[in-house]
Amino acid sequence: MVKAIVGANWGDEGKGKITDMLAADSDIVIRFQGGANAGHTIINEYGKFALHLLPSGSFNKNVTNMIGNGVALDIPELIKEINDVTAKGVPKPNIVVSERAQVLLPYHRLFDQYEEERLSDRQFGSTKSGIAPFFSDKFSKIGFQVWELFEPERLKEKIKNVLEVKNLLLEHVYHKPLIDADELFNTMMEYAEMIKPYVIDSVTFIHNAVKEGKNILLEGQLGSLKDPDFGIYPFTTSSSTLAGYGAVGAGIPPYEIKEIITVVKAYSSAVGAGAFVSEIFGEEADELRRRGGDGGEFGATTGRPRRMGWFDCVASRYGCRVQGTTQVAFTVLDVLGYLDEIPVCVGYEVDGEVIRDFPTTAKLDKAKPVLKVLPGWKSDIRGIKKYEDLPENCRKYIEFVEKELEVPIKIVSNGPSKEDIILK
Ligand code: GDP
Repeated sequence: MVKAIVGANWGDEGKGKITDMLAADSDIVIRFQGGANAGHTIINEYGKFALHLLPSGSFNKNVTNMIGNGVALDIPELIKEINDVTAKGVPKPNIVVSERAQVLLPYHRLFDQYEEERLSDRQFGSTKSGIAPFFSDKFSKIGFQVWELFEPERLKEKIKNVLEVKNLLLEHVYHKPLIDADELFNTMMEYAEMIKPYVIDSVTFIHNAVKEGKNILLEGQLGSLKDPDFGIYPFTTSSSTLAGYGAVGAGIPPYEIKEIITVVKAYSSAVGAGAFVSEIFGEEADELRRRGGDGGEFGATTGRPRRMGWFDCVASRYGCRVQGTTQVAFTVLDVLGYLDEIPVCVGYEVDGEVIRDFPTTAKLDKAKPVLKVLPGWKSDIRGIKKYEDLPENCRKYIEFVEKELEVPIKIVSNGPSKEDIILK
């Protein structure tokens, strides 16, 4: 049985916790897209961890954690994360890496940084982890798959060709130091040694796992609104954040993905530039940011304060729809317990007309939120285990959202720890 866990919003919905919870029943957990540019926060018996590249099954001895071919593989970062978790007493995670995953190189980070410098006040707010230059290279066919690290003669030749154009850009567009071919080759040889113990033929591995009926969990990063096709383009990430892409980025037959659990956050937060219709500002935003998540809404990778907003029915319904959601996990609901009244965005006003279907970017920029105000429950709901025991206004909030999303909410998360879960 193959399940996917993905986000409906901008990311940071709390996918890490839900994945960690479901990982216990999984044989294999797979990262299928993205890279080390975002983080999952996991709190368990070993402590609190911000994972960027390691799959969330890494705390579970019985789980094989796979870096799929769709991931931007930052080799030193992966090794660092493995060392960090073992240093904190976690048994060495069982990690395998697809030989077809492509390797993120030091110059990808540099190009990311140089391009944001060039754009200056028009920049996208990149995390500068090299993700956009990496995926550009992959689709321009000048990237390097993991297996290429083990073919030194071919590699030398290819490095020469790739650097021709890279160095022209560095010299004439960015006015930065050039890349030395020998130095890059040596770095890649070091990467080869570091990654060697983990590399597998992932296509055969997954084929056999599916045939044997193994439980496989696809772990998404970011959310629908950051997808390069369906997100708020161009304020998106550079690889697909959708469950459907799990088939490609992990090498699984599309029809094997039976459950798509979409994580939806009880209010909105976003990082980076781009339209955010239900955004709030000032003291109202500061308070939600301070109380949000676990210890405030600040980026797991960058530490940047996140932009805050009310729950957006239009964006979240669309976010669930493009994922092909079969059920929703509704998270961080406990955070809203301080509010007398809770505004939610139920429509967008664009040029005097109210719409309920999420539009493309120029219309989004013009959209004003149509808010509906729901009564708050004014209490701390952490520690509650049964749906019926939630305050009535809290249940009404959940049921209102469920109706708006048009998919069932089956999991409610009412606190950051693994135990703060209500099955509906
Ligand atoms: P991801 O990017 O979707 O994996 O998001 P994270 O896993 O980093 O979650 C964002 C933050 O929310 C983390 O600090 C989590 O510990 C926290 N978190 C997750 N679920 C809940 C919840 O139900 N309530 C509260 N208060 N915090 C939560």
